[in-house]
Amino acid sequence: MNRKGEALLASALCTTTFIAGCSPEKPGSDIPDIFAPTSETPTTPAPEYVPPPEPGELTRALLAKDAPVRLIFVPVIRQLKVNQLEAEDKSYTKKLLANDKKTLDQIADSFEDATANRYKPSRITVVKTGTMAINACLNSADWKQHTAIDAHVAKYRDDTALNVLVVDQYGCESVAGGSRTGGYADDDLDPIMTATSLTAPDELDSGFPRSVNHETGHSAGADHAGTSDCTDILKIQHCKISPTFDTNSLMGYQSTVDSNDFTNPELFKLGLLDKTEIIDNPQSGTYEIVDAHAKGAKVLRIPAQDKTLYFSWEKSEDAVDDTLCKPIKSDKDYELPNLVSSGTREINGKEVTFVCYAVNKTGTDHSVQVRYDDVSTEFPSSVVVTRPDRALDKFEDELRDTGENKPNTLLYRDEQLEVKMVGRQGNTKATIQVTRK
Ligand SMILES: [Zn+2]
Repeated sequence: MNRKGEALLASALCTTTFIAGCSPEKPGSDIPDIFAPTSETPTTPAPEYVPPPEPGELTRALLAKDAPVRLIFVPVIRQLKVNQLEAEDKSYTKKLLANDKKTLDQIADSFEDATANRYKPSRITVVKTGTMAINACLNSADWKQHTAIDAHVAKYRDDTALNVLVVDQYGCESVAGGSRTGGYADDDLDPIMTATSLTAPDELDSGFPRSVNHETGHSAGADHAGTSDCTDILKIQHCKISPTFDTNSLMGYQSTVDSNDFTNPELFKLGLLDKTEIIDNPQSGTYEIVDAHAKGAKVLRIPAQDKTLYFSWEKSEDAVDDTLCKPIKSDKDYELPNLVSSGTREINGKEVTFVCYAVNKTGTDHSVQVRYDDVSTEFPSSVVVTRPDRALDKFEDELRDTGENKPNTLLYRDEQLEVKMVGRQGNTKATIQVTRK
């Protein structure tokens, strides 16, 4: 969820294109000579031009230097009585306020895991402000409310830390019976966590640490992570976008084992990959990409027609090996530990049930995933192109967003560009072939 909805569209549009140069025009290079100062013309030196920060830049700078996390807890006299809401976990709140080491270590660990050890908060502390009266629910679009909260916490903030506001009040979406809104954030603004984020804190897939990581992602300029289901999958056209459905990303809303980490393109956007880890707009050739924990390039970034594509080698628990689908012979076929899915199809008037297996289902399965930034929806997302399971789609409509793991699969093709996965080495790396036409 985003903290300031109205501001989001304009700022996020910039966010999604900042890599390609959404920065304001910088003066200097094309000033005609006629205006150049000469020795005869006494001049006062022009003030140095300081460009405004790119969206999320301030937060990214904090992540880059392993800044401490400062959780600022705002107690609220709550007049809002909502019976259907789960009360926040009082014991978790107590542990936070006591600066309980185990609780804070868990938050630090979740940041480290989510960023493949690229952001390690040097310290996590919790401070408590005076009590605040907030009678209404927390509303992402209510500027007045946020201004009041910002003013209330001002003297508790530390500009050298990642400040995260934990406001002990419910989010309006939760009150309305909608999503269990854990928090709000927008570029460079302190994330606001709601009372709802304090429920189920120990469930790593939906608890407080994950919510804090997700909102920090927004604060550092990352959009939501969704899926793109396209009729023309190779050209990525005629696509249906589900803005928060990417099951492999922390920036999606899906709580799965694979959804607690940032994807490699997100690590790039968060400024957590160095130059050698991104292959930017490459010429024709073959390139190797590895996952976030290995040494080597992580992302192939290729502008293509109307969108910029990101190819990465990511873990995906249910990476189906397309060669491992077969009609079942006995119930025992259902019991194999690496079974991913099954389906039934009519062949020659006879119903045949198929089962498909993962590559190894060890939790380390990888696939090549293709993502791009979609700005067609109200809230821009980074979306992964879902792949029809070719083995399965003969008899089922299921899509998977786990990408491709079979060598010699075409990943993208238009009039000027072709991108193919030509090989893989277990779950270690993939080889991608780029062909400019
Ligand atoms: Zn969000």
